[in-house]
Amino acid sequence: MNDHVHPHDGDVLEAEVGSRRPDFDEERLARREAALRDVVKFGDPVLKSQALPVTRFDDELRREIARMGELMEASIGIGLAANQVGRLRSLLVYRLDDEGPIQALVNPMIEWASADSEWFEEGCLSLPQVYVDVERPIHVRVRAQDAEGAVLVIEASGLEARVIQHEMDHLDGVLILDRAPRDQRREAMRALRELDLA
Ligand code: ZN
Repeated sequence: MNDHVHPHDGDVLEAEVGSRRPDFDEERLARREAALRDVVKFGDPVLKSQALPVTRFDDELRREIARMGELMEASIGIGLAANQVGRLRSLLVYRLDDEGPIQALVNPMIEWASADSEWFEEGCLSLPQVYVDVERPIHVRVRAQDAEGAVLVIEASGLEARVIQHEMDHLDGVLILDRAPRDQRREAMRALRELDLA
């Protein structure tokens, strides 16, 4: 399945993927299992639905952002979109490394994307055991709002650009399966059927 040459030494994008990080203790992995049960899985129509713009920047929104951040952290993921917690609102969180702050983007829009693109293997918390290659622009400029409604403009490249685009796809009801090469998509569907998800 992974015979493609990747630009980053064959490493795997761990957007929302933890099972390939073996260095966690039992307790941490048990916490991950519990968190993953709260993430909507493939087959739920909410994953194929368009999220709606956020119009109220209130305490409820900030609680939702905090809750999504905790769920992402417990799941050992690096990104999570509102659709994945069953909410159709234009909101995503991400964090590239374990130490950094969690970034929340509300109502994100791609303002500009580079013509240069690259293939990279991605996983998804909503698609257990699925890893497929996805081609995306390497650089993007994204306009969004923060938890208070202030405008944010983010220039992102590489992994950060990829995670943001992966999560923004969720907000449009698009999954990595929809972007995968045909043979990989077929193999992934077979894996999901074995898990009774397809
Ligand atoms: Zn995902």
